[in-house]
Amino acid sequence: MKTAVAIRLLQSLITNPMKNPLFLGLFCSLILSPKSMGADAVLTADSKKVSAVEYLYADVSDANTILATIDSGLLNSYQGKDRAAWVQFYSERRGKLAKEFESLPTSGLSHGDTSAIAAMRKQMKAFTGGGALFSPAVKCKDSARKDVSYPDLKAALAACFVEIGNSLSFEGGKINRVSALDLLHETSDPSRRKAVFLAFVPLWQAINGNNEPDSPYRRMIAGAAAEGAKDGSEIDNAARDVGIDPAEVERWLVQMLEAWGESSGDVMVEPWDFRFQAGEADRLLETYIPRESLQPINHRYYRDLGADLEQMGTLYDLAPRPDKAALAYTEFVTHGRMVNGAWRPTVARVSAPYERGGLFVLNELVHENGHVVNITAIRNRPAFVDWPSDLFAEAFADVPAWSTYEPLWQRRYLGHESPEQLSLRALYSVVMLDVAWSLFELRMFRAPATDPNALWTEITSRYLHILPHPEFSWWAVRVQLADLPGYMVNYGFGAILTAEMREHIAQTLGPFDTGDSRWYGWLSEHLLRYGSERDTRTLMRDFLGRPVSPQAFLKQIHRLKPISSRPASS
Ligand SMILES: [Zn+2]
Repeated sequence: MKTAVAIRLLQSLITNPMKNPLFLGLFCSLILSPKSMGADAVLTADSKKVSAVEYLYADVSDANTILATIDSGLLNSYQGKDRAAWVQFYSERRGKLAKEFESLPTSGLSHGDTSAIAAMRKQMKAFTGGGALFSPAVKCKDSARKDVSYPDLKAALAACFVEIGNSLSFEGGKINRVSALDLLHETSDPSRRKAVFLAFVPLWQAINGNNEPDSPYRRMIAGAAAEGAKDGSEIDNAARDVGIDPAEVERWLVQMLEAWGESSGDVMVEPWDFRFQAGEADRLLETYIPRESLQPINHRYYRDLGADLEQMGTLYDLAPRPDKAALAYTEFVTHGRMVNGAWRPTVARVSAPYERGGLFVLNELVHENGHVVNITAIRNRPAFVDWPSDLFAEAFADVPAWSTYEPLWQRRYLGHESPEQLSLRALYSVVMLDVAWSLFELRMFRAPATDPNALWTEITSRYLHILPHPEFSWWAVRVQLADLPGYMVNYGFGAILTAEMREHIAQTLGPFDTGDSRWYGWLSEHLLRYGSERDTRTLMRDFLGRPVSPQAFLKQIHRLKPISSRPASS
């Protein structure tokens, strides 16, 4: 998950204020030298007037993400200012910025300045100034109200993931959603596994009621489709980012699912057995990845890739808290910029609710830190020191993360490995669920009156060989489905870009599953330094030397040897 902007974080009590890590100015990227700085990476505006506005923008942008950091419950002050001081700073500068924007010349500006202004205007729309990041007025129960507005309905459904998803009842205790998904991979007793699966029922009912035509989810997706038709959906954006039309996106998703279906034999499994059957690698390696080893392993891998996350001053907030955001995400704390002729680097923050270790969790942590290295590598003028497209960001984060399921990586970082076939099946079963959700959302957007349980049953039984259970809304385990409808395409379809990037890096720079100290510097220079300046289609075409295609991904799926027959449970 790349951003907190659209997550309506509930205000959490600040119970664990962490000391601000001192800013370490030692970090210096390879690409700072003028020699390797591309000609198009101009770090200042052409017009003095635009430059002043741009630095004001950078202050507002930082205040916005600092307030989000404070409101996440991680800190109660930053750079010596508390929340109230940051709110004041934000609103003063924000007001001034709005005025300065009005006074900018409307013609005679350079091309670079014109696109910088457009980027700032677009990015500012997502600024919340902290206050809107939590909506104490909206609760899960509000999703039952038929008169609730579309934005409030989304917020209410996201609140269900916090209120209900953070405390699922299981065996007389409480577990959170991430742990429950993890237990589905690890629990060997089939009836206990089914009990884990059924622990989600209250969440499913909160999201999709009894699957009636005006269930909360069905009202929400109708709103999402209406908005998407007006402004373009995440699916339309993903199509644009690859340079194909949305109908082609659907065909590529189906191709991905068909390739998996062919590699999976024809034995049908129960939904509570799917993750377990595919997750043998997770179980083999579970004992070697206790929770406290997650960060040391993660840091070591990135150091081997040439990125010292600790030295970068990245903030981590990985422990569960009752009203914390229900999913892992990464966001800017401050945005890198030139200060007195020197680059002051970006500081990033990772938030996650980890109760347990294991490979599934470790893979996600490495994914989040893929976002960290993406944004810390940006070297651009302030207008463009922001996220690239959602599709690119999610796809890139998996470039390092997929290595965790390669036996070579496991041998080096865990001291133990799972056989290749088991590792690949574990990784791509998770990717395939994302592809299935992508197709699910694509079709819900196209026909929002569709019965979601019937659609999910159709997709999962046909391609993933999962037995039909249309009586359960068991698709409703991802926060994004409620909070950011359409977003799943960035994971499922994004896997195509991940496979393309991994293959191209391995062929051009060399394999990196066991590290390569040139990796971060090389990717910064060739792919990451532009930030929000370059559209994904151009970026990928220049990087690959051709348009994106699904072939590299399909090649990965074809590494899987078909399963002839396996028992439905073990
Ligand atoms: Zn992500």
